[in-house]
Amino acid sequence: MSFQIIFTFLFFFTLTNFPITAFHLLDEAHHGFTTNFSFPEITAKSDVDSVVTPQHIIDKVNPIYLEKTVHDLSSFHTRHTESELIDDVAFWLTEKLQSICGTEVHVQNFTYTPEKTNGDDDNDVNNNHRPKPFFYNLKNIACEKPGSTNNTIIISAHYDSRMEDINNSTARAPGADDNASGVSALLEVARILSNISLNHSIIFVLFSGEEQGKWGSTHYADYIDKMDVDLDLLINLDMVGFSLEETNDFLIEYDNGNVVQDNDKYSRVVANFIKGVAEKYTNLNATLGVLGNSDYLPFEALGYTVVGFHDDGVTKNPDHHKSTDTPDILDYEYLTSVTELTLATILNLDRLTTTTDTPSFSVLDFLVFIAQ
Ligand SMILES: [Zn+2]
Repeated sequence: MSFQIIFTFLFFFTLTNFPITAFHLLDEAHHGFTTNFSFPEITAKSDVDSVVTPQHIIDKVNPIYLEKTVHDLSSFHTRHTESELIDDVAFWLTEKLQSICGTEVHVQNFTYTPEKTNGDDDNDVNNNHRPKPFFYNLKNIACEKPGSTNNTIIISAHYDSRMEDINNSTARAPGADDNASGVSALLEVARILSNISLNHSIIFVLFSGEEQGKWGSTHYADYIDKMDVDLDLLINLDMVGFSLEETNDFLIEYDNGNVVQDNDKYSRVVANFIKGVAEKYTNLNATLGVLGNSDYLPFEALGYTVVGFHDDGVTKNPDHHKSTDTPDILDYEYLTSVTELTLATILNLDRLTTTTDTPSFSVLDFLVFIAQ
């Protein structure tokens, strides 16, 4: 243990007035997923209000906005990546993000080359024999909210959809749970944080091409790597609006293995931290589970720390990947809670950020350090 880390460690506690019980609770977290975590009373600076509490900020989540966004996105006949409508969806989302983030919105163009299929299979019949082009021009849409440090948290969600047949780009595919729910939560968090000053820089990014194989996120992860972004954590929202019989069951997905091993401990400790946030701020029944198959994987493969927020609809939602994944099957109180959790997670992690001259020591280093 270096002196620098000891110094930083003490500085953290001075800065945040972190309760000493957190030592024991996070220590337990190291051995198992104990989540009886104590949170300090914290405040966040705001350009509008002089001092506001996290609860004050979290209370701004508006279920009406969430529901409207789900309805608006699902009203596109399909958001299939190969659909002629996908550019309209991207344009609609770009305008939406611009109204929140102003000039900080970046549209990233990339191409997706579909794998060659047999050519005259059944899917072509469903597609009315529409010839497939060799490649598709797709768009990721991102809003970058600068913080007082370069330490960055990415909040991501994919906006494309599918129905039963992955190759059918013309049939109805409303994708309300998968993944208008995640997009609506992301937009609401971006809206609320737009006038809140944070230590972390936050990137809100909407991906296309997830259903065909995480094309947008793969492209964006490479960009983040090339730009040498100081990425602390990616939180991916994929299916966050379905609650089977209002059980409020909720999965926080953490990284266990996959491509890189060194990032596992960070993902595990932050997932446990988020479970504590869920217990303090929401009525979600949060449990931890391993990563599935979503847009966090390309980031994990590059060594970044990732977690996923998921309603477990892949196994529980009977309308998943069907034309019946419509807005009426969602639970908007549940979606509100997930949005509140996303906000509360950012605010609580942000409070642990150091403003010292040791930027390489991230908030996740801190969480892992005190869990050891
Ligand atoms: Zn999805």
